[in-house]
Amino acid sequence: MSLTVAKFGGTSVADYQAMVRCANIIKQDENCRTAVVSASAGVTNYLVRLSQAEVPAAEQASIITSISEIQHNITAQLAAEHDLNREIALLLNELTELAKQQSNHYSLQNADAILSYGEQMSSLIFAEVLRSIGLPGIQFDVRQVMKTNSAYGQANVDIEQLKQASQAVLQPLLQEHIVVTQGFIGQDSLGYTTTLGRGGSDYSAALLAEALDATKLAIWTDVEGIFTTDPRITDQARSIPEISFGEAAEMATFGAKILHPATLIPAMRQNIPVFVGSSKEPEKGGTRIQQEVASKPTYRSIALRRQQSLVTVKSPEMLHASGFLAKVFAILAKHELSVDLITTSEISVALTFDNPTASSQHLITQAVVEELEQLCEVTVEHGLSLVAVIGNGLNAAKGLGRDIFQKINDFNIRLICHGASSNNLCFLVPEENANTIVEQLHDRLFTQ
Ligand code: ADP
Ligand code: ASP
Ligand code: MG
Repeated sequence: MSLTVAKFGGTSVADYQAMVRCANIIKQDENCRTAVVSASAGVTNYLVRLSQAEVPAAEQASIITSISEIQHNITAQLAAEHDLNREIALLLNELTELAKQQSNHYSLQNADAILSYGEQMSSLIFAEVLRSIGLPGIQFDVRQVMKTNSAYGQANVDIEQLKQASQAVLQPLLQEHIVVTQGFIGQDSLGYTTTLGRGGSDYSAALLAEALDATKLAIWTDVEGIFTTDPRITDQARSIPEISFGEAAEMATFGAKILHPATLIPAMRQNIPVFVGSSKEPEKGGTRIQQEVASKPTYRSIALRRQQSLVTVKSPEMLHASGFLAKVFAILAKHELSVDLITTSEISVALTFDNPTASSQHLITQAVVEELEQLCEVTVEHGLSLVAVIGNGLNAAKGLGRDIFQKINDFNIRLICHGASSNNLCFLVPEENANTIVEQLHDRLFTQ
C-alpha cells in the first residue's frame, strides 16, 4: 500500500495561510496520511531562551505573550477557534509553570520539556486546519511511539520500539485519518519528554516513514529543493532536480541546513525515496533523493558548516613512537567528544570539532585542554568554518587544483581533507571568509 509521510518545517506552519497551503498539498496526494510538523517559525527560538537558567520573570512573561500571539493569529482564522484557544491556554499555563521552575532550578530534563511546546501547539492547530478544509485530520502525540534514551537535547531513538509501537498504535489510525504529529520530540523510559536536536523534525519524519513502511517521504520547506549551495549565500544557487542518497547525506552532514544530518539514514535503510520542495510554491517542483540517479557529476554542491574548532596537538615524542594517538583519543572519548576531521604530520595532529548550532559554548572545554596538555602541546582555534565540495569520484578526479584551489588561493586555508571519501573534499577557513569563498567557488564550479 502506498503511503506518503510529509514533513512541514517552521516557515511552512508559520501562519494561517502557510498552514492552509500545506493542508492543500496533503489534499493533492491521496497517499499522504501522516504529517509531521515543526513548531511555527520563531517559536522554538523563544523556547530555547525560556529553557535557560535565570531568565528574568518579565522576560519570561513577554516570551509567553509572543508565542501566544503567533498561535492565536492562526486560531483566529478557524471556526473552532474557541476550543483550540482553550487547549492552547492549557499548554501555555503548563509552559509558564515549567519556565518558572527552570529559572529557579535549572535541569536538562526541564529544558527539553519546555522545548516541546512549539510542536505540541503547531500539531494541535494544523490538525484543525486539515479538518477545516474537509480532511480527516487528528493530532497524535508522537511520544507514544518515539521512545528515546535520556540524552536530553540530543536523544537517540529506539528504532525497534518505534517500529513496533507505530505498527500497533499508529498504523490502525491511518485507515480513517490523516495523522498530524510532532517532529523533534520523544520520550524516555522514565516518561520524560526528550528532543532530538535542533532541526530534528526532518529526522523524526524519516524515522516515522521507516517505521510505517512508507513509500515516500516529502520534506516541505521554504525553498524549492536542495540547491547547489545555500541560496542565502548566493543567488546563483540553483535547485538540483535529482540527487543520490549518498550525496545528499554528505550535504546534510556537512551542514546544509536544508536537512537534519541524520535524515537520510532511515530513508536509506529502507530505500524510501525522498522529495524536498517548497510548500509556498509546490508547483515549482523540487529535488528527488533516491538510490540510483542518472547523472553523477564530479561537482554536485557546496556545503558550509560554521562554528568549527580546530585542536592541534604536538609532541616530539610522536616521532616513530606508537600509542600516542590512542592516548589522545582516549581522553576525547572520556569527554564524549566526537572528532570530525583529522590530519597528521610526523609530530603533530590536527583535529576538528563541530560545535552545536546556536550555542555559545565550545565543545572543547578547559578541562579537556588541561588533560591533553599532560600529554603534549595543545593549541585551540575557534571561529572557523568548514567548506565541503560534494560530488562523485572526487578522490580520483583531475583538475582539482584548477577548479578549487586556484579560486581560494588568496585565503588562509587551515586544514584540507581529501582522499578518504570519493564524495567530498573539505577544508577549514576563517569564519569571516567563508561566505566569499563559497560564493567564488560556486561561481567557478556551477556557473561557468
Ligand atoms: P525548515 O524550517 O523547513 O526545516 P530550514 O530553515 O531548517 O527549514 O531549512 C531550509 C533552509 O536551508 C533554506 O532556507 C536555506 O537557507 C538553507 N539551506 C542551506 N543549504 C541549502 C541547500 N544546499 N539547498 C537548499 N537550502 C539550503
Ligand atoms: N522546532 C525545532 C527547531 O526549530 C525542530 C525543527 O524545526 O526541525 O529546531
Ligand atoms: Mg529544518
